[in-house]
Order: sequence, then C-alpha cells, then structure tokens
Amino acid sequence: MEVLLCKSINGGSALSYVEMFEPSSTNMLLWRCKSCGKEVTNRWHHFHSHTSQRSFCPYCPATYSRIDTLRSHVRTKHTMYLNAKHLL
Ligand SMILES: [Zn+2]
Ligand SMILES: [Zn+2]
Repeated sequence: MEVLLCKSINGGSALSYVEMFEPSSTNMLLWRCKSCGKEVTNRWHHFHSHTSQRSFCPYCPATYSRIDTLRSHVRTKHTMYLNAKHLL
C-alpha cells in the first residue's frame, strides 16, 4: 500500500495534520477544521483536501498523483465498496 505521511508534505503556511483539527464542540465523533471551519469525520481525507493536489482513496490512506491510477486502485483493492452503498 502506498502511504504518504503528512511529514513529507510541504504545505507552506498550511497547518500540520495535527494542528489543523480540534475536537468538535457539538459532536464527539467530529473534528473541526481550523482552516475552513468545516466539521468532518475523517481528518486524513479533509487534510488532504487542503494540502494536496493528489488524488486520495476514499477507502484507505493511499494517495496517487493521477486520478486514473487511483481509479484502478479502487477498482482492484476495494471492489466490495464499489458494490456496496457509497458511504461518503
Ligand atoms: Zn478544512
Ligand atoms: Zn484504497
């Protein structure tokens, strides 16, 4: 599995993965993004939506620089999700 750790991302002035989120005041299961104020369940994916131009897999932490590489990854690794309901 290809995993890109946040340390390897040079986000310039962007907050780090840990700095960007604080626990939501309304829902224990949510994290509030300090950067845009959005409350999210998946910090990893939301972090990437701010800092990365890469395409990230909605089902695991894998990221790819090309959307078609990601698509084939999802097709081969997450076939069961594609057949199930989309949870995102
Ligand atoms: Zn955000
Ligand atoms: Zn994946």
